Amino acid sequence: MPASAELSSFTEDVVKVTVNFDLCASTGACAQVAPEVFEVRNDGYLHIRKEQPGPELYDEVQQAADLCPTGAITLED
Ligand code: SF4
Repeated sequence: MPASAELSSFTEDVVKVTVNFDLCASTGACAQVAPEVFEVRNDGYLHIRKEQPGPELYDEVQQAADLCPTGAITLED
């Protein structure tokens, strides 16, 4: 009986988004390009809505990281 179902197709790259809040100046630039991932709340602080966004958001989070004026956003595989 074959018991080895291949699950490897499920292991896509996952990007983890982290923000160094010591560097973040709450400019909101990231929230403008990737609003599904970043949000500046009414209290003025940035909030990460999705720490592990799906592949459909990779371009946006990469753009947000590039745009961040303080280099506070890090993307890890
Ligand atoms: S773009 Fe950078 S500095 Fe501006 S809110 Fe986002 S993480 Fe903070």
